[in-house]
Amino acid sequence: MDRRHFFQSTSLVTTGALVGCALPGVAQQQAKTPFTVPAITVPIVGSDEVFPVRRIYCIGRNYRAHAIEMGSNPDREPPFFFQKPTDAIQFVPPGTVADHPYPTLTKNYHYEAELVAALGRGGRNISVEQALDYVYGYSLGLDMTRRDLQRAMGDEKKPWEIGKSFDKSAPIGAIHKLAQTGHFTKGSIWLNVNGKTKQKADLSQMIWSVAEQISKLSQAFELFPGDIIYSGTPENVGPVVRGDVIEMHIDGLPNLSVKIV
Ligand code: MN
Repeated sequence: MDRRHFFQSTSLVTTGALVGCALPGVAQQQAKTPFTVPAITVPIVGSDEVFPVRRIYCIGRNYRAHAIEMGSNPDREPPFFFQKPTDAIQFVPPGTVADHPYPTLTKNYHYEAELVAALGRGGRNISVEQALDYVYGYSLGLDMTRRDLQRAMGDEKKPWEIGKSFDKSAPIGAIHKLAQTGHFTKGSIWLNVNGKTKQKADLSQMIWSVAEQISKLSQAFELFPGDIIYSGTPENVGPVVRGDVIEMHIDGLPNLSVKIV
């Protein structure tokens, strides 16, 4: 190998190593890209900053009556989590009714009203006692679900993605900083369709609290600022069709509304 080849290959390896080792969230690319991929962000109430979303985690079956309606035993099962891609986010400004597209491939499209916790710090093996120190703020959101596809895949022991992790499957309101709301350990959570109550429960009925969710998640994944957690839905999930208007509420946050189109 001549000197020129040696330096070229060294340079390539160095570049690759720099990109590979860079921390998530840190501007890392000096190379030009052939196209741009938009950063996924959610507005922060009372701020000109926006919250950058790194990952979307969702907990499954976190209210006793919902766990039962989904066919599991809430007394025996440890928490389980799945993810949605960050570009599943559909930001819904407070006071508006956003158009939400009925997705392809499903004939049983379900709402799930959920509290969302947004992390401002990251870590591994976070204790339950310290977990709430990692919360930046809160919002509310819908874990929209192609229930027929989720069930079919579950029955076949195949991955859930097509039922849960599709485009625009994560409508969300603005992020409220912790100082604006405090932590959410109790309070009403409800969801109406066309003005008729469908889901109604209290956040205190969560099987695993937000603190416990953060702690459990941090055993499985290294958490980072920008991670958000959909904290599970109460019982009485159900279908919507085109033309329906969903309104959801959590005490202490502005309501979130979408129209299925
Ligand atoms: Mn859910």
